[in-house]
Amino acid sequence: MEAINLLLVSCTFRREDEPSEPYGVSCLVSAFKRGNGCNDRISTLIEDLSNYENESGYDVDKVAGRLANSILDSGCNIVAFSNYAWSDKLFKKVLSLLSGTKGLLKIMGGPMVVGNKSDLENEYPEIDYFVFSYGEKVFANLRNYLDKAEKFIKDLPDFTDLESPYLNGQIEIEKEGMTVRMELRRGCNFNCSYCRYKDEDRKVYLVGNVERWKAELRLFKEKKVAKVNVLDAVFDASGENLGMQFLEYCKEIGLKADISLQIRPEILDERMIRLAATMPNVIFEIGIQSLDKDVMKCINRGNRNKVIDTLSKVMTMGIRTEVTIIYGLPKQTFPSFKKDLELLSLMGVKKISAFKLQIYRGTQLYNEYMKYKLTVKENNYGIMQVYDNENHDFNKMDKYYESYKLKHGDLGLYHKTKHFKQRQEERKIEDGLLNAVLSKVNFSSGKAFKLLVGKDYLMKLGYKIKGRHLVLVIDGWRLVTVFFCGVITELVDLKNVVLI
Ligand code: SF4
Repeated sequence: MEAINLLLVSCTFRREDEPSEPYGVSCLVSAFKRGNGCNDRISTLIEDLSNYENESGYDVDKVAGRLANSILDSGCNIVAFSNYAWSDKLFKKVLSLLSGTKGLLKIMGGPMVVGNKSDLENEYPEIDYFVFSYGEKVFANLRNYLDKAEKFIKDLPDFTDLESPYLNGQIEIEKEGMTVRMELRRGCNFNCSYCRYKDEDRKVYLVGNVERWKAELRLFKEKKVAKVNVLDAVFDASGENLGMQFLEYCKEIGLKADISLQIRPEILDERMIRLAATMPNVIFEIGIQSLDKDVMKCINRGNRNKVIDTLSKVMTMGIRTEVTIIYGLPKQTFPSFKKDLELLSLMGVKKISAFKLQIYRGTQLYNEYMKYKLTVKENNYGIMQVYDNENHDFNKMDKYYESYKLKHGDLGLYHKTKHFKQRQEERKIEDGLLNAVLSKVNFSSGKAFKLLVGKDYLMKLGYKIKGRHLVLVIDGWRLVTVFFCGVITELVDLKNVVLI
């Protein structure tokens, strides 16, 4: 085969503070560069779907036409589509526009490559090769796989040997205050019926090794990253203490960035809760989906009592927690959905986002949704979304959540609000103050106590404050929670901190 000129096409929903190249794309590019010849080239074409959120809307035909022209103009001889549910409709249109193009091989991988081979061939008649597995090994030896001329490729990489796209410079952290993704493990061994993330064989693979993670964390610290989204479907589920090691190292190096972890309360152990409670920058992201036992059973979710117990503990310990739930699930009713929201609020969860159920090809629910009398239609991206259910109370749930959002803020898009940005600024000030105060506190008493820090003292520290005092609740060595009776408005100078 002549020299490879590969164009990798992907769609993303990028936030302003994230690197321009998505993490998954960078992994494939890194693998390609590592394994192919020096005459072989790879470039990327990324379509950012978040551009269309506030504009005239997403015109899929227009975008497809533009992408098809860019692919043809690029002069590539192979185009690879990394296909997710939100890009499926778009890529099908792009492929039909490219059909008949001579000398252009077309490859597809990603979560939409699922199911039996003849269905896939019908779904995407223009595709020459389908990659069923994670793509790094295939990208690293692309010529070999194409020479073999097997249309369906499955070959897993050695996950421990994968290069970090941060450490090899593929992802550049261009400025301070960015949000990055960091991968600890790939795959999931749970079996939620609606989920398309897990592999068919539900295997989980460790990515890299502890030394790689540590080097990445040091880099994030040096680059003053604002937030690390940890990619591990179920944090600390390895049973090898890796989650504890990870958090302890973040603490040891004094990483200031927020660290966002995906948690399943059923397997969260006491030690992890206690450790996270000492780290104000740790955020638990918990996909609860539903707390109704009939609903949980239908979607293969775990032990309700354990979930409620652990979540209550997490909230009591003052860990920053964000919860997501879904509406439109099998057997769900308006009263059960309302009760879920009320229960979560009662437990003290401040950030709750609810999403309409989406149904993906290749999931158990895809085969079952009609049995549960769920009615679906395609949204703008071509994803099947529930809009009516067995009791015909789906609209009531939708309206209830809309009014809940109005009352509590638009929690789903909270990160985009002025309030969130203002809170981020306030948090920086609060964190600085907290560290300054903690460095002066004697933790050896072993008793729970409240420490009130008065307005005068805060003023002395150089803070301008509206309100009366700061409250730190400390249980022995562990900081349980911190809250402000008042609003800290500005940090002027923290040089001469003395606790009096
Ligand atoms: S725990 Fe998360 S990743 Fe795993 S199957 Fe359930 S939804 Fe999917």
